[in-house]
Amino acid sequence: MLFSNSAIAQLNHHGRSNLVSIFAPDYREEPYWWMAAPPSGEDVTASVPGPVKADVAIVGGGITGLTAALFLARGGADVIVVDSGEIGGGAARMNAGFLGRTLKRSIGWLDKHVGSEYAVRVYRELDEALKGIESLVNSEQIECHRRTCGRLISANSEPHLRHLIKDMEEMKHRLGFDYEVVSKSDLHSELASDCYFGGVVVPDLGSIHPGLYHSGLLKRGKEAGVRFLERAAVLTIDSNGGRKSVRTERGEISATQVIVATNGYTPRNLKWFARRLVPFRGFITATEILPSELIDKVLPKRRTYLDTKMGIDFIRSAPDSERILFGGLTGRLNSTSTSLVPALYRRMTRIMPDLEGVKISRSWTGFCAGTFDFMPHMGIHDGIHYALGYNFAGVPLGTHFGRKLASRILGKGGGSSAFDIEKFPTLPLFNGTGLVAPLAMQYFNLHDRWITKGK
Ligand SMILES: Cc1cc2nc3c(=O)[nH]c(=O)nc-3n(C[C@H](O)[C@H](O)[C@H](O)COP(=O)(O)OP(=O)(O)OC[C@H]3O[C@@H](n4cnc5c(N)ncnc54)[C@H](O)[C@@H]3O)c2cc1C
Repeated sequence: MLFSNSAIAQLNHHGRSNLVSIFAPDYREEPYWWMAAPPSGEDVTASVPGPVKADVAIVGGGITGLTAALFLARGGADVIVVDSGEIGGGAARMNAGFLGRTLKRSIGWLDKHVGSEYAVRVYRELDEALKGIESLVNSEQIECHRRTCGRLISANSEPHLRHLIKDMEEMKHRLGFDYEVVSKSDLHSELASDCYFGGVVVPDLGSIHPGLYHSGLLKRGKEAGVRFLERAAVLTIDSNGGRKSVRTERGEISATQVIVATNGYTPRNLKWFARRLVPFRGFITATEILPSELIDKVLPKRRTYLDTKMGIDFIRSAPDSERILFGGLTGRLNSTSTSLVPALYRRMTRIMPDLEGVKISRSWTGFCAGTFDFMPHMGIHDGIHYALGYNFAGVPLGTHFGRKLASRILGKGGGSSAFDIEKFPTLPLFNGTGLVAPLAMQYFNLHDRWITKGK
């Protein structure tokens, strides 16, 4: 949607006239990534006639769904991917494109609560997922600007920095993951900000253009013979003898196996799954095209950037034009991102004062999914395969789990996972919506403050 003059006038009318100038003339509430990879820009089969039979029906055409579909089709299965919207209309083409080994649980926490052997398994698998996306992009020749750019994690306080370095040291010692400490006085060589107390660079983490990545997966899936059914929300999934019946808004699909890959968009009617996922909105803005010297000053090494709060602010440059992307305020209930652009802008310019005066050209919001144990999950429930709950890090893990689910269904080896945990917790009376996300953000903020006070 173009942000029209009347909408600007409306903002004006509500007393934000001083902020109106932050919007570029071409401002739209739409993911920046859609400029290169709009969800409807593909020649997706928009309808499948009559009752459909398939070996595997995949609910959700995001990263998980399309990766599973590609590997299943390559393995000889007849696959149909069903999406309630356009293929690529979910978080797959809305995320920030950070590639990491991100998990809300630190290795130290896992050690203490679940055991050191399991902790190492988890982080090894996260590393496998990170490397897996690189090898997939290379082997499938997907042009999506994947780059090992390194990540700067900036500390919001001195105790945060100590905590961060301890964590990094632990991972280096036990898993060989490298990192470099950046002192407060050296921070400007990485990020033109005085807000932080130093940080660490993790050199082997990367970035991607998520729109082009997802559209590349879609292209390869189509070439492999995957069928797609768009705008056909799945209403129910029933076991019918050996086969499963997937009832959609546009007819029924009969399949031997079903995968649920709906993550933050999981509807309440898929009750068992929805009860285990807390949908969170994430918000991102993209600036207008900037002078490259300005970006080189602010983000000299063009890495990805985030901080040590649980409610992170995150920054990167666009890989295909001279813009800066800034995200934050995760978990806010606002259903549009435009209403949060002024707040995001204030945060962005507080962190990077050199950006004062630049204009915002795009903003958007999408859903990710948290879980009650802060762990992503894959597994099988009532005969239905699933991979869900990425806690904001589903680009590598969605790819990884999609591949693993395909291996399982094809009966190949390599389908086991540290994230196939028997217990996938929920809360009494929780139905997948409501105030859990904002309450959880309150908890995260308290947690941030607790770490800040330090031990
Ligand atoms: C703003 C934002 C920034 C993020 N940044 C990063 C990042 O930098 N790095 C990272 O690793 N992760 C990031 N994430 C998370 C990442 O995007 C997700 O974890 C990932 O997209 C999950 O992939 P998926 O395929 O499981 O789900 P999605 O990509 O969300 O796809 C789910 C699909 O299911 C469909 N669906 C829902 N209900 C139904 C139904 N009833 N019937 C049929 N289809 C249905 C939806 O339409 C959607 O297309 C971010 C997320 C957001 C929102």
